[in-house]
This record gives sequence, C-alpha cells and structure tokens, in this order.
Amino acid sequence: MRACPRQGGSRGAVLIELIMTTIIGALLVSVLPSFYFAYIKLWRQETASLGASQQASRVIRRMKSDIRNSRSGVTSSDGSRLTLVMPALAYNAACQGMTVVIGADGSQINGDTVEYYFQQDPNGTGSRGGNVYRQLTRADGTQKIPRLVADSVYPSLNPLSTSTGSPLPVFYHDADKDTVIVAVTASEPKPSAGTFAPTSLEPICSRDGGDLVRVATDGKPEGAIHCTNCGARAKPGSELVTYRTEIRLRNH
Ligand SMILES: [Zn+2]
Repeated sequence: MRACPRQGGSRGAVLIELIMTTIIGALLVSVLPSFYFAYIKLWRQETASLGASQQASRVIRRMKSDIRNSRSGVTSSDGSRLTLVMPALAYNAACQGMTVVIGADGSQINGDTVEYYFQQDPNGTGSRGGNVYRQLTRADGTQKIPRLVADSVYPSLNPLSTSTGSPLPVFYHDADKDTVIVAVTASEPKPSAGTFAPTSLEPICSRDGGDLVRVATDGKPEGAIHCTNCGARAKPGSELVTYRTEIRLRNH
C-alpha cells in the first residue's frame, strides 16, 4: 500500500514554519539592532579611550628619563612649565660612551637645560587645549628648536586639586619629596559611525557645543565633567583620559 502524504500534517508543518519564521524575524528586527548599536557605541568609546590613553602615556614616557636624570627641577607658578637642569656629560673612552662628569668636590656638574612647557592653542578658549613642547638649551647657551611632544592636551580638564579646588597644573614640583608630578589630560574624538553626529576634535559637549569643565561633586572631589550649558547632562564628543605620574628626581 502506498503511503499518501498526510494533508493535515503538511498543513500543520507549514503553520509551525510560518510561526517560527515570524518569531525569528521579530527577533532579528527587535534584538539585533540594539546589539548592533550597543556594540558600535562600545567600539567608539573604547577606540577613543585607547587613543587618549596612548597619547597621555606617551607624553609622560617621553619626560620620564629627563626628569629622573635631572639634577634639579623648577616649575613655573602656573604649572605650565618645567625647567630641568641635566648633569654635564662627557665622552668616557673607558666606557666608550657618554658618562656623567664628576667635579673636584665629588658631585655632578650642571649641563644642558631641558624645558617642557604647555602652550595653549592661540585660537582656543575655554576647555580648548594646546601642545606640550620640549626645548633643549646647551650648557653654552645654544638654544635648540623646540620639539613637539604632544598635541591636544587639556590642562583645564585635569582633575581638581583637593587643596586648591582648581584643576591640577601640568607640572608640580613637590620640594619636600623632591618629585615632579605630571598631570596630562588627553582627548580623542570618538570615531565616526556613519550617520551619527559628526565627531569633534575639541572636548566640547556634542549636544550644544558648550565648553566642558570640571565640577566638584560629593561623590567626585576630583571633579566630574560638566557642560557649561547642560551641567551634569554633558555629552562629551570625545573621550578624556588623565594620566598623573609622580617622578622622583634622583640625581644630586
Ligand atoms: Zn551641553
């Protein structure tokens, strides 16, 4: 006897398939886009945050050996400039390299001067940043061309000092501990994700273009990022990362 296709069963399968297709379709339409947008948001945030961290850590890495090896460090009153006196070096044939010169009294001798300074972008206002340069002056007074160490640095967005309530200076020399504290806030625009709001190079509020400021709150004495227009509802168009390092001067 030949088996006939079961009409009812076939119709049932079609119905189940239709229901399944509808459910899967609904899932695709409702759940996937939210995954997609959450992922895009995370990706934009992570990429920008990584860029800003790299920028800030690069500045500090660049300064570290100069600060450590210097004989003395002086910071300007506004903390935008650090002047380091390096020990004099001379070629040592026995070591086949440059070594520190030791004077008659057994101590080091002053050599080159290295200055690090922050210069604000002349076209900028508010939270707009500037560059950090390194200037070398030879022991004989010859000034070398300043070299750019970092751009897009935002000292006005440095964490607030608990003692003064103002943003930490870029450079601070703690005479008691003989350390130099460097605080660098770098900004990195969030990468564009097509149709979303245009990215901004400046750390401004992406909602209204307002300047960003640090405002001390109960939970955050170092200050939370606020917008001058929307306050705590600020939507920074870029990721801001602060690196703060204490470097000991070890040469005397
Ligand atoms: Zn705003």
